[in-house]
Amino acid sequence: MTSGPGTVYLVGGGPGDPGLITLRGCQCLALADVVLYDYLVNPRILKHARADAELVCLGRHGRGAVVPQHEINALIIAHAQTGRAVVRLKGGDPAVFARVAEETGALEAAGIPYEIVPGITAALAVGSYTGIPLTQGDASSAVALVTGQEKHGKPHVLDYAALATFPGTLVFYMGMTTAKEWTASLIAAGKAADTPAAIVRRVSWPDQQTIVCRLDTIAAEIEARKLRPPALVVVGAVATHAQPQSWFVNRPLFGTRVLVTRAPHQAAELTERLCELGADVVEQPAIEVTPPEDWSPVDRALERLHDFDWLVFSSVNGVRSLLNRLLETRDLRALGSLKLAAIGPGSAEELARYHLRCDCVPAEFQAESLAAALAGEARAGKRFLLVRANRGREVLSETLTKAGGQVEQVVVYKSRDVPIADEAIAEQLRSGRIDWITVTSSAIARSLAAMFGDDLRHSRLISLSPITSATLVELGYQVAAEAREYTMPGLVAALVNAVGHPPD
Ligand code: SAH
Repeated sequence: MTSGPGTVYLVGGGPGDPGLITLRGCQCLALADVVLYDYLVNPRILKHARADAELVCLGRHGRGAVVPQHEINALIIAHAQTGRAVVRLKGGDPAVFARVAEETGALEAAGIPYEIVPGITAALAVGSYTGIPLTQGDASSAVALVTGQEKHGKPHVLDYAALATFPGTLVFYMGMTTAKEWTASLIAAGKAADTPAAIVRRVSWPDQQTIVCRLDTIAAEIEARKLRPPALVVVGAVATHAQPQSWFVNRPLFGTRVLVTRAPHQAAELTERLCELGADVVEQPAIEVTPPEDWSPVDRALERLHDFDWLVFSSVNGVRSLLNRLLETRDLRALGSLKLAAIGPGSAEELARYHLRCDCVPAEFQAESLAAALAGEARAGKRFLLVRANRGREVLSETLTKAGGQVEQVVVYKSRDVPIADEAIAEQLRSGRIDWITVTSSAIARSLAAMFGDDLRHSRLISLSPITSATLVELGYQVAAEAREYTMPGLVAALVNAVGHPPD
């Protein structure tokens, strides 16, 4: 039963950097049943939508596949009329060169309620991300947002004489393919040919580019560098402040494309750290983590926890899976006086989320070191329950057993290879457009080798630990860098170091 049409939210997604969407924009995405998004929107923003929301892309840039406006209006209305909440996600701000009035007009005519959520328009991002103040003291007291794309058949909508004497900064949107015409018109109307200008392509994206020039060289620069939309052109004295090497571009991993290969639910931490440093991150999970098919061995182990002295975790997944199962049927008192060991700070932090403190974390975060740290306990004949995946190394159990410990293992999650890669990512790898691949376990190394084979050789491989590196070498690959501390922050630090000190 539907109780009338759903609300339509016309949301500005900002210029590209996924952090540049408003809180209200995120709220709307979280409640949307369907999201109709523009080609200019960074798909990363879509992570704010619910997993079950329908996501519809309205055309891709430069492919001639942009959906015509009347069809977009009809689509928005059709979705809303089924009672669904619709987000129409637009690049930049919905009220700047984004045909918002046409969409709201159609919604009003159809009797559909709507809300408009502003976004950061590309010109404002240029101000912050390239160092150009849009207004400045005496140099610029006003800003005009100007289209470089006058409607066909109406050649002189713009009053170039007025623009030529405008007392401030002119920012041209959609002016790449028409630069020759509009720059000539401005000069003919009296604007000085040597007026400072800056072309800013893909502002706030990982490949942002800023070119400083003059009004009369804009068209030649665009042609010589084969610049494609989307780009803005800033014309006016303030353009002299443009910094091709702005804070944004100067971040240590800017312009570096990195493939993150962790399981989907674990990729976010690494991806966010890398993005923060300016990397262009793409994700292709190499393994998937799923619950065990049969919980009864886990349940039996949980019933006998008092038979053990130590509970030993070798992964974050292990912590999460075992403790969630435990809490479904009992509470933390079931752990009694058990001591807890974790392979590294990630697992220890995960235990802390359950209000549990670790009794043992080795100095180096690998199975050998954990075994060494527990060796004394093993020699004393203590009883260990190792919490693990269906596959993985045996070194921990073997070493502890050899030392005299009583060891049992319980499989609390399954890890399996992702069999087929996303075609777009496979293509990027094939054509050498991925600079670095993060390899964060031996299982991931093996899965990547099966998935991509020789195509992995077009990128540099960064490994989490000597164990992972050894697996890569065994598989016939070269390791370009290795984390010194075997954690995600350690991996990121190693990458920053490697990118900052490229081999000759
Ligand atoms: N509503 C959008 C503008 C859409 S019109 C906004 O408020 O930003 C499309 C034009 O916007 C492009 O041709 C380009 O001139 C500009 N644009 C959008 N995103 C951009 C970006 N990240 N970098 C440079 N220009 C951009």
